[in-house]
Amino acid sequence: MNTLQTRYTASCIFLIALATAASGWWLFCRPPVSSAAESPRPAIVIDPGHGGNDSGAAGGSAGVEKDICLTLAQMIYIELESTYRIVLTRNADYTPELFTRTQTANQSKASTFVSLHTGASVQPHANGVTVFYYSHPALRPSSPSDTTTGAEGLNSLGPTHWEHAQWRYLSGSQKLAGMVGEHLSNDLTDVPVTVQGAPVAVLAGANMPAVMVEIGYLSHPKEARNLKNRDTLEVYAKSISSAVQAFLSQHLNTE
Ligand SMILES: [Zn+2]
Repeated sequence: MNTLQTRYTASCIFLIALATAASGWWLFCRPPVSSAAESPRPAIVIDPGHGGNDSGAAGGSAGVEKDICLTLAQMIYIELESTYRIVLTRNADYTPELFTRTQTANQSKASTFVSLHTGASVQPHANGVTVFYYSHPALRPSSPSDTTTGAEGLNSLGPTHWEHAQWRYLSGSQKLAGMVGEHLSNDLTDVPVTVQGAPVAVLAGANMPAVMVEIGYLSHPKEARNLKNRDTLEVYAKSISSAVQAFLSQHLNTE
């Protein structure tokens, strides 16, 4: 190495050291990166069912379940985005895995998770809205006098695995489902609304109050026509949104 090379190498080392120090200073002094996860607004995750090759139920000229659910989810997004951080599990025509949908809610640290579907039945008269909260046979009371369910009953069930995360939120989810059902009952005319528990797979791993809303039967000609109508979907969107807002205004204040 000649003198010129030595000087050149020394200069490079000096510049590298300077750059390293500067980057260290920058890393130390830079303001925290703002991320969605750090947003002070509570998050709500909306899950439009199906998507992509999975069209869900078909309603003839009314369209298919995947499109109706996505339209409704986008309407709910617009209703709530000024107050909450809204995350959709999909915002286009593709199929997230079931696990991914729940994982999105958990990673978003959502305050509530709402999955949207329509119903379909071989019985053409089957109709109405059903709001589901998670329920599991292992969590049912063992006797009529034993009303212990949900978090209170978990101690006897051993460790809670991730796929049973919802078990800790059964009472909150039941309350949320009741409020969604109540709002929909008040806002919809001539549409029966049922609230019930069921072992709904997409809710099982949700680490927050969670519900699935089946907004009507595409196999029912009149309901299929209604669900094709954007004005009707707007009513559903406003009703579900106001119910979630009412739930969160109570739930978040009591935490
Ligand atoms: Zn569905």
